[in-house]
Amino acid sequence: MRKAIIVWLMETPEQEVQCPFCGEPFTIVVDTSVDDQSYVEDCYVCCRPINFHVVCEDGEVVSVNAAR
Ligand SMILES: [Zn+2]
Repeated sequence: MRKAIIVWLMETPEQEVQCPFCGEPFTIVVDTSVDDQSYVEDCYVCCRPINFHVVCEDGEVVSVNAAR
């Protein structure tokens, strides 16, 4: 039971990113079961759409890129 909880936490690591528009730092939760993913999410401060590109490998986050 305890092991399952730890695994779940490792598979949803939080990554600190910075908004490319307003520069506000915030935290996103990454789905590491996908090796290469791109998605758009609105900044919660300035509401502009941020293009995220996340690369994962073996369940670990390799890189997180936030672009306009
Ligand atoms: Zn912003």
